[in-house]
Amino acid sequence: DAYLTAIDAHNAAFNAYVAVTHDIARSMAKASDERLASGKGGALEGIPLGIKDLFATKGVHTQAASHILNGFKPDYESTVTANLWADGAVLLGKLNMDEFAMGSSNETSYYGPVKNPWKARGSDADLVAGGSSGGSAAAVAAHLCAGATATDTGGSIRQPAAFTGTVGMKPTYGRCSRWGTIAYASSLDQAGSISRDVRDAAIMLKSMASTDLKDSTSVDLPVPEYESALGQSVKGLRIGIPNEYRVDGMPDEVEKLWQEGIAYLRDAGAEIVDISLPHTKYALPAYYIISPAEASSNLARYDGVRYGLRVPGKDIIDLYEKTRAAGFGDEVKRRVMIGTYVLSAGYYDAYYVRAQKVRSLIKRDFDLAFDAGVDAILTPATPSAAFGIADKEMAADPVKMYLNDIFTVTVNMAGLPAISVPAGLDNQGLPLGLQLIGKPFEEETLFRAAYVIE
Ligand code: GLN
Repeated sequence: DAYLTAIDAHNAAFNAYVAVTHDIARSMAKASDERLASGKGGALEGIPLGIKDLFATKGVHTQAASHILNGFKPDYESTVTANLWADGAVLLGKLNMDEFAMGSSNETSYYGPVKNPWKARGSDADLVAGGSSGGSAAAVAAHLCAGATATDTGGSIRQPAAFTGTVGMKPTYGRCSRWGTIAYASSLDQAGSISRDVRDAAIMLKSMASTDLKDSTSVDLPVPEYESALGQSVKGLRIGIPNEYRVDGMPDEVEKLWQEGIAYLRDAGAEIVDISLPHTKYALPAYYIISPAEASSNLARYDGVRYGLRVPGKDIIDLYEKTRAAGFGDEVKRRVMIGTYVLSAGYYDAYYVRAQKVRSLIKRDFDLAFDAGVDAILTPATPSAAFGIADKEMAADPVKMYLNDIFTVTVNMAGLPAISVPAGLDNQGLPLGLQLIGKPFEEETLFRAAYVIE
């Protein structure tokens, strides 16, 4: 009730929820109370969560913040949310996001931008909450849920977490099932959490992760007790510092924060080693070939026949065209066009195949660092703090917007786990985050180190 009251009073200020499920929340909470009374409570019994609009929730608004899924209520539940409900969590509602998870500012949503609960010192201007999981980040930061699910294809958990002073956990590709999560770029998409602290992230991942026969890329590995990694010493842990992440134009305060994080881990007994990830600079261009390519294929299913919006036409082709023209926003259309182009017969080898080769090199950079004994890698999460809504430079040049993900996309290209932890404030009093990147399926090391930084 306290969370629902807070949402009713304050959601309009942040635009974090696109649907609030009052009745469902109350009946789930009541069932939780009954289970607790009979001593049968699960690990998340009665904990109210917000769910990113990308996860299919049975009978409940699921539109990936797109008009093309207008009115869509799936008749199935995503594996990740089903796992959370099985542990007793309560659904508060569906959270705003960039349309189909394409964006870094939550401004491509059909429902309009999310507003960051943080403001720069002495200013009243609204700032973005980051994207694409902007609704998840803002809802957690504004205490409109106890924790939220999110997804990360190229930074969409970690960047909004950094912009809102929250913790963003992107597990290893395959750790959480993608079944029932609306696909953007299937080889990069991974579910995770945005939470108020590292402990909550550990508790949520334990519940969300599972082996799932319905997703052939979900791994058949036991899910560890992540919480027991918290408080374990980082003594002897080797933390790599990649020189290539010192990019041109990075503000001094981000560099300063990075140095503070390094000093902090060193003081706690970790060994700091310089490493090189030489193909880092190719990650963003390769990502913006691979992710639109996969998106153009995944989004072909929205044709006005099977789901959501249908704009009638004089024949079937006309119906497809009118529906897709009216249903998709500009950024989604841009990606479908780029993706279709790079997959077309004449350009496939020059762009798509080349980008896949670059992807292998990026992954090899990480493999070599880990093979040389590095346990985790520390970098800034983003090159800057949250920026203003309708930023003129970014609106004029999509590539400027894409640069937000410069420190985060490499991780998805290599399928690695990474966590973003709040680490300090910039000169304007806005939160900044540090990112820890780990070896495949060694999320425990990340929780352990992040708990020290937090
Ligand atoms: N900002 C990136 C993009 O627009 C990442 C999005 C994401 O991780 N879903 O593709």
